[in-house]
Amino acid sequence: MSLEFSIQKTFGKARSAQLITPHAVIETPVFMPVGTVATVKGVPQDILEELGAQIILGNTYHLYLRPGVETVRKMGGLHGFMAWKRGILTDSGGFQVFSLSELRKVTEEGVTFRSHLDGSSHFFSPESAMAAQIGLGADIIMAFDECTEYPADAGRMRESMEMTARWSARSKKYFEEHKHEVPWKMETESPTLSLKERGTRVGQPGDCVGADAFVRPAERSDAFESWERPAYSGRSDAEGSGLRPSGRTNASVPTQSLFGIVQGGMDRALRKESAERTIEIGFPGYAIGGLSVGEPRELTREIVESTLEHLPKDKPRYLMGVGTPEEIVEYAQLGVDMMDCVLPTRAARHGLLFTSEGKVSIKQARYAQDSEPLDPNCGCRVCRRYSRAYLRHLYASNEVLAQVLNTIHNLSFYLDTMRRVRHSISLGEEYRFLSGAGLDRNVNSEARPPRIQP
Ligand SMILES: [Zn+2]
Repeated sequence: MSLEFSIQKTFGKARSAQLITPHAVIETPVFMPVGTVATVKGVPQDILEELGAQIILGNTYHLYLRPGVETVRKMGGLHGFMAWKRGILTDSGGFQVFSLSELRKVTEEGVTFRSHLDGSSHFFSPESAMAAQIGLGADIIMAFDECTEYPADAGRMRESMEMTARWSARSKKYFEEHKHEVPWKMETESPTLSLKERGTRVGQPGDCVGADAFVRPAERSDAFESWERPAYSGRSDAEGSGLRPSGRTNASVPTQSLFGIVQGGMDRALRKESAERTIEIGFPGYAIGGLSVGEPRELTREIVESTLEHLPKDKPRYLMGVGTPEEIVEYAQLGVDMMDCVLPTRAARHGLLFTSEGKVSIKQARYAQDSEPLDPNCGCRVCRRYSRAYLRHLYASNEVLAQVLNTIHNLSFYLDTMRRVRHSISLGEEYRFLSGAGLDRNVNSEARPPRIQP
């Protein structure tokens, strides 16, 4: 088994569950920070660990162009390359080819496109996209799909959905034939533990993967300390990273897991058909793709809600590319288990911060002499230490640190939001949200260590 998904509690349509991959024990519903080119922009890996990120995203299109799959593969895959021992998911490259590259040409065989970096010509097929993702070595990889543009007419939506169905079958076929080529470096102890058993072993030096290849022996124990130290004590649910593919014979070594993607544009019947056809091919998890492509938000919700009805209840469901803090809560309540979005990181770099009291545009002059923390209800390292005045100054001065601190806070806010959603589900309570109204300020402020005074 390379993936286990066990639902622990349900409340309405929402569920809290544990998703276990070869590198991570992930509590869901989960928000996955986006690390497009093997970095979550501005945030070092040890801080991502401190924030409690159990799984992050990489973008196959970008990594394929630079530094190239072969480079990453030789470094033990993304885990080794970026010294990240927890979960990673890569997209198939399909969406990026459609949204970023120029002069793309789609045929039954695949997509020819030009690099947004240097204009060079490239080709992705379901098979080459799988080969690239196997080389990158994420825990979860995605079938190659065609992202239908919006708006699109009925004929175009059907044609595109059918193409995705055929490409999904080709993706799975190639993956099954080549999944043993994943470049994870396995060690030789603990050959008999199941995924679940290994999920309970947190921070065992010696049974690690990839990333350790870089650590010189003299640094090794320190490096383990910093990688494995739990997130700050205010974290409530069990978020230990813990899983290390231990050495085994090839036959029993965990592999990646390939998820299918449901398309079908904004047509509910086509979405249903796409879900059924994707399920028929058979995947350990299912994603809803082709949303957040310019359609109104109400339509996104309608399509998500109707598509979820057609997905298996016992498999993880991943909604790709959403959303605002309000939206990720809403979708979790509809029964989505996994989400990703560039919004918290991209907005942070533009000085837009999400807080328990609403959005803050830190560039505003009103914060120039504001000695309060950015978000009085946030326990992140930024809110514990710095004032709004300082963050505003850094942003106004175009300092690199502004981007770093802003991103850390926004990610912390997203990850904390999902933590609270999981907590609500486990208690069987309605999640009350945002703008201060329903937040449990007492619990939060007690957990927050005193801020260092200027
Ligand atoms: Zn904060």
